[in-house]
Amino acid sequence: MNHKNAVITGSTSGIGLAIAKELAAKNYNIVINGFGDKHEIIALCEDIEKTYSVKCIYINKDLTQTKEVEALIQESAEQLGGVDVLVNNAGIQYVAAIENFPPEKWDQIIALNLSAAFHAIRSCVPAMKAKQCGRIINIASAHGLVASPLKSAYVAAKHGIVGLTKSVALELANDGITCNAVCPGYVLTPLVEKQIPQIAKERNMTEQQVIEDVLLEAQARKQFVGADEVAATVAFLCSDMAKSITGIAMPIEGGWTAR
Ligand code: NAD
Repeated sequence: MNHKNAVITGSTSGIGLAIAKELAAKNYNIVINGFGDKHEIIALCEDIEKTYSVKCIYINKDLTQTKEVEALIQESAEQLGGVDVLVNNAGIQYVAAIENFPPEKWDQIIALNLSAAFHAIRSCVPAMKAKQCGRIINIASAHGLVASPLKSAYVAAKHGIVGLTKSVALELANDGITCNAVCPGYVLTPLVEKQIPQIAKERNMTEQQVIEDVLLEAQARKQFVGADEVAATVAFLCSDMAKSITGIAMPIEGGWTAR
């Protein structure tokens, strides 16, 4: 079988891992990237290879560093023979009032949640253009479309990535390459799990109250979004039937932004 190759940043956990498994199930060879216990990640790659009969390699890079983003794309292309799908997913969160927001946290969030996508895209595009084929998917957020308080860096980065998506889509529209963003609401991953006890303590609430009255307050559908739902959307955007879909920011957020 002729496999295509997909690089998913931040895929050792949460949404990125769900996307990696979904694309492996669709016969893509996979590059896993992100932090964690090296032995566990290697075992995860072996499990993906065995379950889906594809190649799965781990490339450990810190994507807050421009040179490491470039190296991720270069090494992926060398080891798998090209990059057909790029999913910019790696992201972090930090919650603080604007006047207390540590400048180094701002820099780190912008570097990872926004600039890393720019560097990965510009590194992938020449080869995709040469093949006249490619898929770029940026994992933005409902916070790429609307704001919440105390998340200035995250909201700025996610609005930025929606703009980047549109601009890249227009540039590449006649090169067989699409570029889209997906905008999930709350998905119960380590990124969100960390926030729950923190907010409970700050606001003197139970963790259940935080989930219902804070996190899911804006979502009309009062349920977390499944990482598998985000992954299935990404897989569709990678398909040939999605070739006319480009430059969108697709909400998957239980009606949050319908208000
Ligand atoms: P997560 O914490 O489970 O996973 C984040 C991944 O990024 C991990 O693999 C981690 O190792 C990796 N990572 C962190 N710093 C990195 C760095 N410097 N270099 C390389 N990799 C790094 O989080 P998640 O919830 O799965 O989030 C994935 C993406 O989805 C993020 O962009 C996030 O903003 C977005 N998102 C999440 C939610 C949610 O509710 N969980 C909602 C909307 C959007």
